[in-house]
Amino acid sequence: MNSDIIIIGAGPGGYETALYAAKNGLSVTLFEEREAGGTCLHEGCIPTKCFCRSAEAADIIAESEALGIRITSHEIDFGRVVERKNEMVKQLTSGIEFLLRNKLITYVPQHARLLDSHIVTTDDGSKYTAAHILIATGSKSKIPPIKGCDLPGVLTSTEMLDLDHIPERLCIVGAGVIGLEFASIFRSFGSQVTLLEYAKEILPNFDNDISKRLKQALSKRGLEFFNQAAVTAIEQTVTGLDVHYTWKNQDCSITADKVLIAVGRSPRVEGIGLDEAGVHYSPKGIETDNNLQTNVDSIYAIGDVNGRCMLAHAASFQGRKVIDHLLGRDCQIDLDIVPAAVFTRPEAGMVGLTEEECKQRGITFTAKKALFRANGKAVSMGEPDGLCKLIADENGVIIGGHIFGAHAADLVQEIAALMNRRTTVSQLKEMIHAHPTLSEVLQECAREF
Ligand code: NAD
Repeated sequence: MNSDIIIIGAGPGGYETALYAAKNGLSVTLFEEREAGGTCLHEGCIPTKCFCRSAEAADIIAESEALGIRITSHEIDFGRVVERKNEMVKQLTSGIEFLLRNKLITYVPQHARLLDSHIVTTDDGSKYTAAHILIATGSKSKIPPIKGCDLPGVLTSTEMLDLDHIPERLCIVGAGVIGLEFASIFRSFGSQVTLLEYAKEILPNFDNDISKRLKQALSKRGLEFFNQAAVTAIEQTVTGLDVHYTWKNQDCSITADKVLIAVGRSPRVEGIGLDEAGVHYSPKGIETDNNLQTNVDSIYAIGDVNGRCMLAHAASFQGRKVIDHLLGRDCQIDLDIVPAAVFTRPEAGMVGLTEEECKQRGITFTAKKALFRANGKAVSMGEPDGLCKLIADENGVIIGGHIFGAHAADLVQEIAALMNRRTTVSQLKEMIHAHPTLSEVLQECAREF
């Protein structure tokens, strides 16, 4: 069978690109060995956001007396939390399957492997050809070479989503995005949570001020952090899983019922015929240029598998860029402006450069901050803990935005939009923001310049 483009992997990178290609008149053969939707829908963004919502409800109920509502008793039905998550995932999966029923898209629910630069085969030996091939196979949880990581009860984020009970004691190795989101969720469900992080700060890629404040806020909620902790081994004992680590030159250990390993994700580069097709790759991912093209002209790679930016929306926009490139169109997508968020409580969001990055790159910048506690909406919501930081270059153009506080994930999008239009802080000062809204914190921040 022949088509204009073959896409391997139907995550947000693969399936959204298939739809965009078909909308532009290209015929597509899309391969997926599991269900359409990828990590984002089945093991990542969506199921965790379902858990976040249940966790938020638990927090609101627990804190309701302060809002004037007395609830005498409540309990968490974790079975229902998981069931609801499964229902939401099923609903969204059906939505994608419906969208893919497109006359220009042939959906092949099988594992695909490259045979050369234009041919792909499936396990039943069928062969498919295309002028162009797009690899969007995603990533998988990284397991560090630590003794005991294979013990039952030592879990990845995927397995955490299908637990049948709330662990009383949860130890999380890695305080990056995944570790923090699960820590925040399970704390709301009542777990005692300890995080062991190798780096000096949590969320190493975020602005320092934001990660410090987030750590303080989460500590206030009862999370326990050990930074610069090196896990050496995990062992099963009669009382639980003992996690051994060194911290401040001491040998320490903590006992937990479950251990979550959240030390990053590895691009899924194995078993897809990269060597047969002569595609260059490393454990960091498939090598691509700025058009997401590999060293083999007909083959492109998008999303987690190229290791550039492991975010669902980065993958789908990279895919649009590829299709525009194939169609010879001028594409205005700026892949340097990718908003990112951490769905802890409170949330954190960022886009563009951090102060640390500006210093490393020798960029002259000014950074100003505004606090949520001066924002009427945040105070009335009972969420006064928060900070907004804007970074502008020497011409006043916004080059970075960092937010910690309620709805930070949504708020940061305004900064991304402003950055896409090369807006200055002076222009932001003149844009009317509705009162009372959290977005006024951005304007307050601009007024500090
Ligand atoms: P990460 O890279 O964000 O964080 C991993 C953390 O583990 C780092 O802080 C690192 O210093 C630490 N670490 C590494 N080895 C360690 C060890 N042996 N002991 C202790 N700590 C160790 O990775 P992640 O949190 O696993 O997430 C994977 C990817 O998925 C990331 O790229 C992330 O952006 C993406 N993701 C995004 C979202 C979101 O957008 N909300 C949610 C989940 C995941």
